[in-house]
Amino acid sequence: MQRPARVVLALAVVATAMSLPAEEIAPGVELLAGRFVQGTQPDGNTVVLRGTAGLIVVDSGRHAEHTQAILDLAARAGVPIAAVINTHWHLDHIGGNPSIRRAHPAVRVWAGGALAQAQAGFLASYRAQLQAMIEQTAEPAARRTFSDEIAIIDAGPALAPDEIVTAAGPRTIAGRALELGLEGPAVTAGDVWVLDPATGVLAAGDLVTLPVPLLDTACPQGWHAALARLAAVRFTTLVPGHGRPMTRPQFDAYRGAFDALLACAASPQPAEVCIDGWMREAGALIPEADRGLALVLLQYYLPSSLRAAPEKTARLCGR
Ligand SMILES: [Zn+2]
Repeated sequence: MQRPARVVLALAVVATAMSLPAEEIAPGVELLAGRFVQGTQPDGNTVVLRGTAGLIVVDSGRHAEHTQAILDLAARAGVPIAAVINTHWHLDHIGGNPSIRRAHPAVRVWAGGALAQAQAGFLASYRAQLQAMIEQTAEPAARRTFSDEIAIIDAGPALAPDEIVTAAGPRTIAGRALELGLEGPAVTAGDVWVLDPATGVLAAGDLVTLPVPLLDTACPQGWHAALARLAAVRFTTLVPGHGRPMTRPQFDAYRGAFDALLACAASPQPAEVCIDGWMREAGALIPEADRGLALVLLQYYLPSSLRAAPEKTARLCGR
């Protein structure tokens, strides 16, 4: 998720340190849950699979602690990280790439091709905002947060893929047979998902996120179409980009709530009605502790994304 810097400032709260335990979600498949706490920038979830040539890491997090947990997992397993697959270019999913490259120089990074355009556009203007915020604050923790973000952006080529995913289909990566999907424009101009046919685990990236869809760089209609295609994928467990793993009925509920949110936003209903609708339809998927965050995010996304100026939506939808 790429929340604009102004919002980050408005919500500024200091993160608390927390250990990051790995959780086995299917035989040989581990989840490192990304943190997403109100007032801090999130880490995306990381899924780790084992290939005959080493580990396959789906998304590398943003903060150093998250990436360290990935490196620790590889050290415990005693196997190198052979591949990273980035589901999309948001910093909470690619920020750990440089550290993984340093620790595992032979790693191959797979991703869609949308990063270069983001580096010239969205990330360049985000960097300028961060720079301005550093100059406006004397608070050391806030300054560190902003300069950490700039450091990720400035890693430039170390963030970028070695293997650009240009089409969906089966791929053998690090010796493991996987199925890659390519969607977009949806969450970004190019979103990759990863199905592990052996276990039925689907790493969906931010095509599925809780407590709400993170719409900052999204084409809402394209996202709607991508969810319809995800529904046709033969998965048993779906790992969202943020939030807990889902069963198929839970994904169906998510998709229903997503489509209802878009329909409400396209209607003359007041924003509060649309927000209430999401909280009701997706409510069972949202942990009690995240309900406040869900409300804050939707109050932001309704005007800024779902009811954005047509030119903004057209640009994000590549029209
Ligand atoms: Zn994310």
